[in-house]
Amino acid sequence: MDCDKCGREAVMHAAYSGLHLCEDHFVASVEKRVRRRIREDDLVPDDATPEDPQTWVVGLSGGKDSVVLTDILYRTFEQDPRIQLVALTIHEGIEGYRDESVDACVELTDELGIRHELVTYEEEFDVQMDDVVEKDPEGMAACAYCGVFRRDLLSKYAEKYDADKLLTGHNLDDEAQTALMNFLEGDVSQVAKHFDASLGSFEERGEQDDFVPRAKPLRDVPEKEVALYAHLEDLPAHITECPHASEAYRGEIQELLHKLEENHPGTRHSIMAGYEELASLAASEFGARDEGDTELGECERCGASTTRDVCRKCSLLDSIHAV
Ligand code: SF4
Repeated sequence: MDCDKCGREAVMHAAYSGLHLCEDHFVASVEKRVRRRIREDDLVPDDATPEDPQTWVVGLSGGKDSVVLTDILYRTFEQDPRIQLVALTIHEGIEGYRDESVDACVELTDELGIRHELVTYEEEFDVQMDDVVEKDPEGMAACAYCGVFRRDLLSKYAEKYDADKLLTGHNLDDEAQTALMNFLEGDVSQVAKHFDASLGSFEERGEQDDFVPRAKPLRDVPEKEVALYAHLEDLPAHITECPHASEAYRGEIQELLHKLEENHPGTRHSIMAGYEELASLAASEFGARDEGDTELGECERCGASTTRDVCRKCSLLDSIHAV
């Protein structure tokens, strides 16, 4: 097949758009979608100046999504002194997995000349995920512990580095899966939180004083296209799956979405278009932004924002250290 733009050999066919694209036009189309998302979500505020630049912390795991996001952000803002990037890698303590992906992060940030920070569960919490899985004091899946610890460190370090935004590499498939899971679980508060946490433009989301605001500039790009971009651009992405990956329900949803997308191209895009609108309504109607019941206080142990006396991370650490 030939590229629909220039007639050269196509490297991909997007069934949802009907387009065949060659390498150059495919790479350009991915970058264009990310830049459009940055514009539409108002990521760069009007008052950002070279004298008063924005600091964006990017969660860099070394997997394809975060590597592609970091690379495109670098290319987009290389000549723009209003934006300064800090790549943040979290080492969970998973043998035979995270060391290799940290190497990929170091290689990428060295090559691009981006500031790179590495934090570990061991230094921060005196735990390693391999031990947590073995002890499992709460009888939960590995990712349920790991997600709490990771979110805590991303927030803590984004604040420590005075970040204006915290960016993560969630792609279209990730977001469509989360949307569908929230629907199927019937959890409207979760839909509202999803919107406030990372969907919609910053103008729509309003002031967010308690957290460094998050954004997902890769959320219009399907997973397969992220992988193809990483391959074509020869980026040092680490592709092995975590040995503790345990989100079985998400796996089922992923399979379901693959099938739907195969039979009805464009399903993921239409899910997200409708979901974002509904999530916006849920966020304003459900009161996720309201003060009152959901008013945040500080964890009495670590000072993190929480609605409880002791935050979830501190109570999980107590259970783990008690074993
Ligand atoms: Fe942690 Fe689960 Fe991700 Fe592994 S797959 S790094 S356990 S969240």
